[in-house]
Amino acid sequence: MKLKEGVTLAGLNILMRPVLRHAERLWVAHGQEDGVTITEALGGTHSATSWHYYGLALDLRTRYFTTEVYNGITLEMRKALPEFDVVAHSTHMHVEIGNVLAKRHGLLT
Ligand SMILES: [Zn+2]
Repeated sequence: MKLKEGVTLAGLNILMRPVLRHAERLWVAHGQEDGVTITEALGGTHSATSWHYYGLALDLRTRYFTTEVYNGITLEMRKALPEFDVVAHSTHMHVEIGNVLAKRHGLLT
C-alpha cells in the first residue's frame, strides 16, 4: 500500500479497515506489485456532506487499469464490501461507508 504524497491516514475511521484490506488484495491480484495507492483520505476539498471529512471515505488510484480491469475490480470491491458504496469515477475509485452501516453506528440520524 502506498500513499500519494501529502496524504495521511491519521484520523481514518476504524470502520474503513476492510476497504484497505480488500483494495490491497485486489490491486496486487491485478498486477500492482506495491498494492493500492490512496490518493485522498481526510484531506482535499469535497462536497459539504462528504464522508471524507469524517475519515469514512477513501479515494484509490485507478489510472493504470484498463477499462475492462477497472470494471472487474469495481465489481469485486462491491462484492467484498457490501456495506460500502463503491463509486467508479473516471479518475479514481471512491469508497465510502454505506448508509446502513453508518446508521448502525449512529452516524446517520
Ligand atoms: Zn472521494
